[in-house]
Amino acid sequence: MSEPSHKHVVVVGGGVTGLTAAYRIHKLRPDWKLTLLESRDRLGGNIITVREKGFVVDGGPDSFVRTKPAAVTLARELGLEDQLISTRPEGRKVYLAHAGHLEPMPEGMALGVPTRPGPLVRSRLLGWPAKLRLFSEPFWPAGKANGQDESIYDFLSRRLGDAGAEKLAGPLLGGIYAGDIRKLSMRATFPQLIELEKKHRSLVVGTLAMRAEGRRRVKGESAPASRLARARQLIEAAWGTSESPFYSFKGGMLSLIEALAEALPPGTVQLDMALDGLRRDGDRWQLVVGDQKLEADAVVLACPARVAAKLVPGEALSRDLRAIEYLSTATVFFAFDRSTVSHPLDGVGFVVPPGEGEILAGTFINSKWAHRVPEGKVLLRAFLGGARGGDLVEQQTDEQLTQRAFNELERLMGRLGEPEWTRVFRYPKSNPQPHLGHKERLGRLRANGVPRLELAGAAYDGVGIPDCVAQAERAAEAIVRQLA
Ligand SMILES: Cc1cc2nc3c(=O)[nH]c(=O)nc-3n(C[C@H](O)[C@H](O)[C@H](O)COP(=O)(O)OP(=O)(O)OC[C@H]3O[C@@H](n4cnc5c(N)ncnc54)[C@H](O)[C@@H]3O)c2cc1C
Repeated sequence: MSEPSHKHVVVVGGGVTGLTAAYRIHKLRPDWKLTLLESRDRLGGNIITVREKGFVVDGGPDSFVRTKPAAVTLARELGLEDQLISTRPEGRKVYLAHAGHLEPMPEGMALGVPTRPGPLVRSRLLGWPAKLRLFSEPFWPAGKANGQDESIYDFLSRRLGDAGAEKLAGPLLGGIYAGDIRKLSMRATFPQLIELEKKHRSLVVGTLAMRAEGRRRVKGESAPASRLARARQLIEAAWGTSESPFYSFKGGMLSLIEALAEALPPGTVQLDMALDGLRRDGDRWQLVVGDQKLEADAVVLACPARVAAKLVPGEALSRDLRAIEYLSTATVFFAFDRSTVSHPLDGVGFVVPPGEGEILAGTFINSKWAHRVPEGKVLLRAFLGGARGGDLVEQQTDEQLTQRAFNELERLMGRLGEPEWTRVFRYPKSNPQPHLGHKERLGRLRANGVPRLELAGAAYDGVGIPDCVAQAERAAEAIVRQLA
């Protein structure tokens, strides 16, 4: 442990990124003074959980992927191990809206990549030419070895064909960003699929090889030497049951925010405090919050990029931050008595491809998670906006959004009955879009970076909660390194 000092670090933004950065700085340097400024009257940013009348309602994010370990590692460190839950094992089916109703997504899909021929053959989502194109995926040459950026759509249609991109994989991958797959950068969103193509020349073979390797690791086996044995393992991998790819918390995603806040020293968090101005003063920073002034040795900006753009010194930095586009979304929740809902609700929910409806997705909360909905009740969530009407979401009243969501849910799911209650959560300009050229922009942001000022959060290296946690950890370590 180094000598105690009187450094002061200010973290701006009380979402998961800012809180994690503050927590890690405190863990690394408990002797430093720490201030977290949050402009709203609550912590969590996009994360908001309402616990009422036996329901646990996650208005924004309701889970995080287990394949990126940063968030689950943090949760364990915070003592939340026994709060971690996975999606219910019996209800992992995903539906796709198709021709006015819900069709099951073929089983064996992984990140939009089909790995089992049988379910694909039987699926009514695609015609025969599209299915044959999908089956031939391993035989299509790998492209773009020159490392140029490609949109999600261009990448997927090159590998899986136009229909595979538009109807199957695209809606799943684009849905995570509520964005337009023709604009989103493949390199900035799903680099792991690019790696699979590079390594295995095929997404299908690569996905199966990865799964086989995972199973071998669990069993402690080494890689088979012969081609035949390798092929057998790939086939076994296609039929093996897979774990839920998601984690959440029994009490909703806010549990992570609450645990982070509790682990900070009293007085660190300052709510209703928006940073209005930031100025370099020699080695230190001068901060303006309303009519108050603060001084700090280092600052972490974990607020949205468009806010950071107004605060950072230097036009070059500011221009690149301003250029990161944000879309607006909303979620609308409906609680019903189980007896009035005709759908079997035998899955986690559904995704709506472009042209198939006005909402982006629907979630059957009670089938997806245990501990969230009282017995005998149904909780549905509609996800609206993004590239499919983010502006409309901003303009419409709660009543209009609720009516639109209800009409769409009933059109696709069949009779729902009268909702017992409804609730709208709005996310104005809250979904950053890593469009084509995003990685180059991040490179420029790094090159134009200012010492003792770190940028972290959903606008940069990934929007998922684990991405935000990993960025926050890196920002905290960088600040500690620079000030030590
Ligand atoms: C509807 C929705 C569903 C999602 N679902 C998932 C999901 O299931 N799984 C997943 O992994 N991810 C999901 N995401 C993405 C994830 O929620 C976000 O990427 C993540 O929460 C962003 O965290 P953050 O701390 O970087 O930013 P934010 O949560 O946006 O926090 C930034 C904070 O900065 C504050 N702030 C702004 N300006 C100032 C200022 N001047 N001074 C001080 N404070 C300021 C804001 O009030 C806010 O609290 C979803 C996002 C949305 C919108």
